[in-house]
Amino acid sequence: GTVVVGGGSGFIGSYLSKLLSAKGYDVHIISRMPGIQRMTWTDLKEKGLPEPTTAVVNLAGQNVLDPSRRWTTGFKQNVWNSRVNTTTALANAINRAETTPTAFVTMSGVGIYKPCESTIYNESKETTEFDFLSKLCHTWEKSAVLLSDKACRVVNLRSGVVLGRNGGMIKQLYWPFYLGLGGPIGNGKQYLPWIHVIDLCRLILFSIEKSNVTGPMNAVAPDIVTNAKFTSVLADTMKRPAVFPVPAFVLDVIFNGERAKMMTQGQKVIPEKASNLGFNFLYPKIEDACRITIEGKETD
Ligand code: NDP
Repeated sequence: GTVVVGGGSGFIGSYLSKLLSAKGYDVHIISRMPGIQRMTWTDLKEKGLPEPTTAVVNLAGQNVLDPSRRWTTGFKQNVWNSRVNTTTALANAINRAETTPTAFVTMSGVGIYKPCESTIYNESKETTEFDFLSKLCHTWEKSAVLLSDKACRVVNLRSGVVLGRNGGMIKQLYWPFYLGLGGPIGNGKQYLPWIHVIDLCRLILFSIEKSNVTGPMNAVAPDIVTNAKFTSVLADTMKRPAVFPVPAFVLDVIFNGERAKMMTQGQKVIPEKASNLGFNFLYPKIEDACRITIEGKETD
């Protein structure tokens, strides 16, 4: 079948395209840039989904933690629109499709849960809108809602930090850690919900293929770690010291407190739904996830 992946050109999308192709799916990427085997968001609006499309995934989103971009109203608008408008465009396309796809898998983040040292978040914990990022996650999830007569399962993956060699947090931390300049953030006690990119892509495939997966699903590994634990495991894996703590106020200055929160605070999130539905993590432990990432031997 055909799987359409919005933002499929990115970090997660590249791994997902490889996995889906290996499983025999025909992958169509939606990108802002036209190209081979790609359609643009304008193409989607004008021509709709390829017929028939088996599943739709949305991975589009302006990088929130891009340190070169100041946290201005305009940039925040980009962060918001690149997620909400693309999800809405895909939902509209699914609503209009002649053959309704069987699954619509969208990303959301653990930022929907309020940082707290004691609460354990499974998918049935009630969520509130308490800051910009939690509002974004709510609106992002709501924009994936389809017309009520559409027999298409909607899955909202609430992802933790995605670990992989070619993008996300490890790519940003690699050189500082390599040079022995790594260290915990703040006091390091904040939780760091994480998932290896291969497991995230396997979870997306699981969501596409398993008919009983629906609604919000935490996309985090079962091994709950703090920022300090993650820092020491990554440093050990790289055989480097990590003794320079990064004070929270420094990140607040560089990134603005509103988004620095993603690093200076954290939530204790468990993959209850994925586990109950029988999903098996390939990298459930942080040690294995770091090792495979640093060795660069990421294969499915
Ligand atoms: P990337 O930064 O690699 O971006 C994914 C794609 O989004 C890009 O390839 C780009 O496609 C598209 N994009 C970027 N900016 C815009 C924009 N302004 N308007 C429209 N499209 C845009 O992201 P990841 O692969 O790391 O993440 C994918 C999704 O998962 C994102 O929505 C992210 O928020 C979410 N997520 C990621 C986490 C992580 O740790 N990486 C954690 C939790 C959630 P093109 O240039 O082809 O148009």
